[in-house]
Amino acid sequence: MARETTRPHRNVFLALLMGLLAAGASCATNPYTERSQLILLPASYEDKLGDQAYAQVLKDPKVRISQDPQEVDPVKRVAARIIAAAKQSKYAEAANRFHWDVTVIKDDKTANAFALPGGKIAVYTGIFPMAKNEAGLAMVLGHEVIHALARHGAERMSQGMVTDIVLKGADVALQTQGVAAPMRSGVMQALGLGTQVGVLFPFSRAHESEADHVGMRIAAQAGYDPHEAVHVWERMQQAGGAQPSEYLSTHPSHGTRIKQLEAWMPEALTDYAQASRAPAANLPTLQGR
Ligand SMILES: [Zn+2]
Repeated sequence: MARETTRPHRNVFLALLMGLLAAGASCATNPYTERSQLILLPASYEDKLGDQAYAQVLKDPKVRISQDPQEVDPVKRVAARIIAAAKQSKYAEAANRFHWDVTVIKDDKTANAFALPGGKIAVYTGIFPMAKNEAGLAMVLGHEVIHALARHGAERMSQGMVTDIVLKGADVALQTQGVAAPMRSGVMQALGLGTQVGVLFPFSRAHESEADHVGMRIAAQAGYDPHEAVHVWERMQQAGGAQPSEYLSTHPSHGTRIKQLEAWMPEALTDYAQASRAPAANLPTLQGR
C-alpha cells in the first residue's frame, strides 16, 4: 500500500472502531470463571462471522456430510441436551439468540469438533473413538460450545494481531450487509478454524481452561457423567499425535488438563446430581464403515 493512502485508511479504521465500540464493545467478565475479557465486536457481528465460516466449511468440496443415522442421531441427541442446558445456564441470553445447527462430517481421520459464534456445530467422525460414548461426546461438545458462548473468538479478534484484518473484514461486511463478504484467514483463525478444512487453530491456554471447566459443568447439567471428561483426555493422550487436532495442539499438557478437570470435578458432580440423566450409549465404531 502506498504511503499516502495509509492515513485515510487508518481514519476509516478508527471510525469503524469507534462505531464498533458504540455498537457493543465491552470489557466483559466471564460469569463462571470471573475472568475479565476485552471484546471490541458486537455479538451480532460475531454471530454473522460464525455463520459465514460455517457456510464456507460446509461448501468445501472435500467435506462429506454424513447422512448415516448411526452417526448423525447420537450427535444430534447429545447436542440437543447440551443446547438445552446452555439455555438454562448463565449464557442463556446468547444460547437463546443463536440459530443452532449441527452437522456430522464424515472424516474418520480427523479427531475434531467445533462450535462457532451463532451456534453452528460440526463434529468429525474421527472424534468418535476419543469420545467413545455419548457422555464423552457431551464433554467435547460442552467444551466447544463454551468457546462460542464465552465469545473466545471475539476476544481473539479484539487482540492486536488480527484487529486490522477484522476491521478490513468489517468494512467489507458493512458495505455488503455481511452476506457476500469473503472470509479472511484472520477471522477464520480467530474463530479457531483453518482455511484448510479439518485444521483447528489452538485457542489460548486461558480459553482452553475456561472451555474445559465450564464445558464440563454444562455437560453435567445436561445429564452426562463429568468423569467422562477425564477419560476423553486420556484416550486423546493414548492416540498421540497422528493427526493435528485442537485437543492435541493446545498449550496445557494432558497431565495439567486432567489435574484441572479433577479439581473442578466436585462442582461438576453437584451439577450432575441435580440433572436428569442422559442416555449412556456407545458411539458407533468406525471399522468397516
Ligand atoms: Zn478448545
